[in-house]
Amino acid sequence: MASYADNVMSELKARYAYQPEFLQAVSEVLESLSPILNKCQKYQDYKILERIVEPERTISFRVEWVDDKGQIQVNRGYRIQFNSAIGPYKGGIRLHPSVNLSILKFLGFEQIFKNSLTSLPIGGAKGGSDFDPKGKSDNEVMRFCQAFMNELYRHIGPTIVVPAGDIGTGGREIGYFYGQYKKLTTRYEGVLTGKNLLFGGSLARTEATGYGAVYFAQSMLEDRKQSLEGKVCAVSGAGNVATYCCQKLQQIGAKPVTVTDSRGMIYDKDGIKVDVLKQVKEQERASLVRYKELVPSAEYTAVADYPKGLHKVWTVPCFAAFPCATQNELNKEDAQVLLKNGCQCVTEGANMPSTLEAVHAFVDAKIAYGPAKAANAGGVATSQLEMEQNAGMQSWTFEEVDNKLHTIMQNLYRNAASTAEEFGAAGNLVCGANIAGFKKVADAMIAQGVC
Ligand code: NDP
Repeated sequence: MASYADNVMSELKARYAYQPEFLQAVSEVLESLSPILNKCQKYQDYKILERIVEPERTISFRVEWVDDKGQIQVNRGYRIQFNSAIGPYKGGIRLHPSVNLSILKFLGFEQIFKNSLTSLPIGGAKGGSDFDPKGKSDNEVMRFCQAFMNELYRHIGPTIVVPAGDIGTGGREIGYFYGQYKKLTTRYEGVLTGKNLLFGGSLARTEATGYGAVYFAQSMLEDRKQSLEGKVCAVSGAGNVATYCCQKLQQIGAKPVTVTDSRGMIYDKDGIKVDVLKQVKEQERASLVRYKELVPSAEYTAVADYPKGLHKVWTVPCFAAFPCATQNELNKEDAQVLLKNGCQCVTEGANMPSTLEAVHAFVDAKIAYGPAKAANAGGVATSQLEMEQNAGMQSWTFEEVDNKLHTIMQNLYRNAASTAEEFGAAGNLVCGANIAGFKKVADAMIAQGVC
């Protein structure tokens, strides 16, 4: 007989067949909730699954702006307010041509459980636009951000929705969003996180997601009497998360040897030069071809030359892999190659970087596998620390924030690991993270009634 979760999933598949990323994210969560759903009938009685898979509110709007040639440009903007059971909606703004409702709903759905796992009072949300900042001048980016905020400002606020960065949204974009919010509302308040230090940003927020993923990996490995020290690591991505993941790995004595972007991959056998990476990506906003120009001993492979059906970065023999670029960048075949080459640890810095089949391969192989909603929660947790500092008109030191982040990641790991054990799935952090994240939100929804 089909289970409660199966029935909800089938209905969802029929209703949202055109939203594959969203269905994938829900599927991953629902298939791991059976231990708690079997034990607690109340979640079915209160129709929690049917309710939790529907966003509380979806806002979509037109964004029109004028480019440097005087031409009018039109983009689509969105904000998904997915779940506010345990706190104000919190989640980033993604600016990428691939952005659509399926991608934002998958990200918003993941965010509910991730935010819950941090143990901080934050609900789940996500937003963005199909605007591509790549190749645009600073002025064009500014005009787009202002146009986006012209609509968004009426839906956000420090106790309502607090957006942050994501793919394509870094410090520059957050600054432009913030300036326009202030202009429109005349309020100077902590309505966005990832802000510049000059106007309410938090030290260590930039580093938080990448650092947090490494702290999470350390916790997983400590429990297995292993460590990252002296180990070769494969990292994908070359943006915010990947850069600070590489930096932290080096600080603890590990050796990240790869980074990737949408056009290709760098293999630097001597270890990624983080200062060069920052120059290429943060300052010059160039492709990784530029890294190769600056470090001639590194090898560059264009996407067109990747082995068929594989992402080349995962063919590099490594002890630990850190997918930090984007969704579905690590498939079943990639997972098999990683495992064959002896990879012992996979920690997801990006959101849903592994396909469902790859997740199953890692769980079945019983390696240390840190799923995104646990392993990359350091970013949103530190955003919440930024909100706390803004609310208290304080500014904490780098060490203070970094120590809090470290503790949050350790607790998060323990919570996911002990929940997995409690529900008979010891070592399965997908199960542990999903159940722990779900339980708090579901119980809060029940306590708040049907509203
Ligand atoms: P950035 O925009 O800073 O960097 C993204 C990197 O991934 C870039 O190197 C980009 O390449 C590459 N990339 C993006 N899309 C694709 C694609 N379709 N195919 C191949 N490569 C791609 O983003 P972040 O580092 O902030 O985010 C990376 C991931 O981490 C995302 O999944 C995000 O949701 C997740 N995340 C981010 C958090 C944060 O605090 N920033 C918090 C939690 C999760 P190129 O340079 O060519 O564009």
